[in-house]
Amino acid sequence: MTFSLSPKHDSLEDYLADRAPNQPEFHQAVVEVMGDIKPIIDQHAAFKDANVFARLAEPERMISFQVPWQTDEGTIEVNRGYRVQYNGAIGPYKGGLRFHPSVNPSILKFLGFEQTFKNALTGLPMGGGKGGSDFNPKGRSEAEIMRFCSAFMQELHRHIGPDIDVPAGDINVGGREIGYLFGAYRRITNRFQGVLTGKGQSFGGSAMRTQATGFGVIYFLNQMLEAHDDGVEGKRVIISGAGNVATYAAQKAVELGARVITLSDSNGTIHDPDGLSQDKIDWVRSHKAQSGASLEAYVDAFGGTWHSGDTPWGVEADIALPCATQNELDGSAAKTLLKNGTMAVVEGANMPCTADAKQALRSADILYAPGKAANAGGVAVSGLEISQNRTRRPETADEVDEALHQIMFDIHSVCVEEGTRDGAVDYTKGANIAGFRKVADAIVMQGVG
Ligand code: GLU
Repeated sequence: MTFSLSPKHDSLEDYLADRAPNQPEFHQAVVEVMGDIKPIIDQHAAFKDANVFARLAEPERMISFQVPWQTDEGTIEVNRGYRVQYNGAIGPYKGGLRFHPSVNPSILKFLGFEQTFKNALTGLPMGGGKGGSDFNPKGRSEAEIMRFCSAFMQELHRHIGPDIDVPAGDINVGGREIGYLFGAYRRITNRFQGVLTGKGQSFGGSAMRTQATGFGVIYFLNQMLEAHDDGVEGKRVIISGAGNVATYAAQKAVELGARVITLSDSNGTIHDPDGLSQDKIDWVRSHKAQSGASLEAYVDAFGGTWHSGDTPWGVEADIALPCATQNELDGSAAKTLLKNGTMAVVEGANMPCTADAKQALRSADILYAPGKAANAGGVAVSGLEISQNRTRRPETADEVDEALHQIMFDIHSVCVEEGTRDGAVDYTKGANIAGFRKVADAIVMQGVG
């Protein structure tokens, strides 16, 4: 039997191996989505005729460039920079920049692909994009980070713009880096415009952008629980990561009465059975702001136990929130969560579950939400920042928080609508189908050149 996307290939896997060799993360993301949307494509001749899936199975454009920059010692280092303009059918490309040694075309293509569906789910007019560099900021001085950002923008500026592509932050790119990138953009182009989101509030940044992804994760979790007449109050929560998403998810969960008992970094996990408090979370944030600082020092400051090299998934809890990075939760960790009676797994990171883990969680009788739905709050507030930059009218934190609540509520509703099967909600299926429909309709309506 011929695989319907391409007469030359027998399966999606063959197709991807041929068109995108050696890109395992990208294949993983595409295969997952395809499993859910194939029936939708098969039911819609217009989607098939326009070959929509093949057009979504590769980026519209991928830019790769050299970033030469000067260290404090005066030597010149060369990193590689990228911008993947994945799909622009519903709006200018939009998505974060990641600075991490693991950054490569496979990682950025999977992130751009996921971002395309996530952005569609927000209901705001944003296409999908992603970018970054294999630059490792760990152990670099502030001046080196500033020079790297400036060098990166020397090339990136020609590919972005408020009506073209609007980057933001992602792993290792936060408010400080966005400030340096924006400064470089302004100096190079002499334009003050909304070309990046996540800016400082004194120069066009939205209130609540820093908190938005983590808070949004908890708003989404709350919706899932409320649908079962339950809530986060009193629940034990394990969280991985110690960055923006993890710490603001922890903060909102604690505010709503949950007991958050873990955080983690690349060195290991802290387990604090007493639960995190606002003070402890503030400490983690300022401690992790020092380049290369390990979370291990938490135990000296507050007690609890340190588990070197471990993830949090072995700690018994009601709710698990993977908020660190891709493929951080594997099949055996998923089994442990299920064995421990975890009732909900909600993804704060992008594709934190391996394909095996995902399969185990989706087929179990628990609540499980994919990142493209649950972590969409960050890019949603980025979308609101774009609007505020257009009108040059900032909104208050309360206004933004209310809009964020509404957007997460709407994403939850559309996942329920598209993903309900035999009375249970498959949030992954719901998110994939709802995101796909919107982008696919726009692709069809715009024809080809
Ligand atoms: N990096 C974030 C994400 O994965 C935010 C992107 C943005 O705000 O453009 O959605």
